[in-house]
Amino acid sequence: MNFNDYIRNIPDFPKEGILFKDITPLLKDKDAFHAVIDKMADKFKAKKIDYVVGIEARGFIVGTPIAYRLNRGFIPVRKPGKLPYDKISASYDLEYGSSELEIHSDAINKGDKILLVDDLLATGGTTKASIDLIEKLGGDIVGIVFLLELLDLEGREHLKGYDVYSILKH
Ligand code: AMP
Repeated sequence: MNFNDYIRNIPDFPKEGILFKDITPLLKDKDAFHAVIDKMADKFKAKKIDYVVGIEARGFIVGTPIAYRLNRGFIPVRKPGKLPYDKISASYDLEYGSSELEIHSDAINKGDKILLVDDLLATGGTTKASIDLIEKLGGDIVGIVFLLELLDLEGREHLKGYDVYSILKH
């Protein structure tokens, strides 16, 4: 199965110059969805992991089934104003715009082993902000997994020293 067949390229979305990678055809196909989640999870199944952290919103879609497959709990990193309890935040630049991310202050304890998940690695700003949040709480990131990595944007440059794995490279 070639997962690339299930990724749709949308030019100039959400603004001019951005080639948006639409993963909804992959999510819709039960066999492709199942296979890609298994591949993402299985890469890290030999590692000691306490929690899977997923980044809103598509990081929830791929992160929660990975947590379920690894039989671990799931922790959300969310956009501002969504988390109801005590939280910490980090700001970051996007390929299109800038934003902030938040995590509950008690979500992670010192030394917890974390697998960080998102759908796509572009500039790496989103991932870096999430790393900052996790590490501020004392979490130990044992792996970072993406469905798709945009090679030209060199997001990996921001993730040196981490075990980064992406299924597709565009
Ligand atoms: P970045 O912080 O630049 O690595 O951007 C990564 C985040 O933005 C991910 O959560 C993606 O969902 C989203 N994103 C950035 N660029 C694209 C793109 N070209 N197509 C689809 N999603 C994107």
